[in-house]
Amino acid sequence: MATITFLGTAPGYPAANRNHSSFLLDAGEHKILVDAGESCSRTLIELGIEPVELDAIIITHCHSDHTSGLAMLIQSCWIVGRQRPLPIYLPQELIEPLKVWLDASYIGPNFIPFTLQFQPWEASDQFDICGFNVRVALTSHLESLVKRFGSGRFHPFSLAFKNPQFDFVASGDLGCPEDLLPHLQNGTDLLICELAHFSPSSLFNLLQKVRIKRLVLTHAAAEVLADIESMLTEARATLRDTEIIFAEDKLRIRL
Ligand SMILES: [Zn+2]
Repeated sequence: MATITFLGTAPGYPAANRNHSSFLLDAGEHKILVDAGESCSRTLIELGIEPVELDAIIITHCHSDHTSGLAMLIQSCWIVGRQRPLPIYLPQELIEPLKVWLDASYIGPNFIPFTLQFQPWEASDQFDICGFNVRVALTSHLESLVKRFGSGRFHPFSLAFKNPQFDFVASGDLGCPEDLLPHLQNGTDLLICELAHFSPSSLFNLLQKVRIKRLVLTHAAAEVLADIESMLTEARATLRDTEIIFAEDKLRIRL
């Protein structure tokens, strides 16, 4: 039975009782971590899963609430003597700085006995990751930075996972709900969507036109966290055919 476990559900600013963005896709044979906000390593261990068990790490974009636990994950693998390569799917612009960061922490490619297989999202619009077809789409989350500093970097991604048994979409961070549309042409069994960068109403209105069997809301802005019940009441009134779940840390759902 495949599951998704939410390791962190906080927004970009730290929140009491919530870790930063990260979830574990456990597909039985394979364990894939999607985003690595702190403190994903500690939470994995709390759940009885060793970081060394990970088969691949996916980073949707470079903000620290999605990357800050990466170095500890790699250090955790090094300490217990990992030998097999660790694939890391990520934006191109993070690869070289990450190598420098890890080398400065004495756990970079020059120090550890296993290979970090960096795979930039920009290389393709879809990937085969541990038996999943993963389709990739750019979001407009970092558009203000593109306007300010120019194009060529600032690439955040949303992802659609598919295997013969199930499919789901993970929003990453968005600029607006319409960023999801490339993944939702035929609807999806499960949408994991952030709620930090647009009004919840705008998301629910957009999703009225799409088949979404289950919607898991996470990464909510502080004002949403302040009144979760009102937001859920609106969501359930607008999306009557969709099961709606608000993610807490360590929530586990079946696929
Ligand atoms: Zn974020």
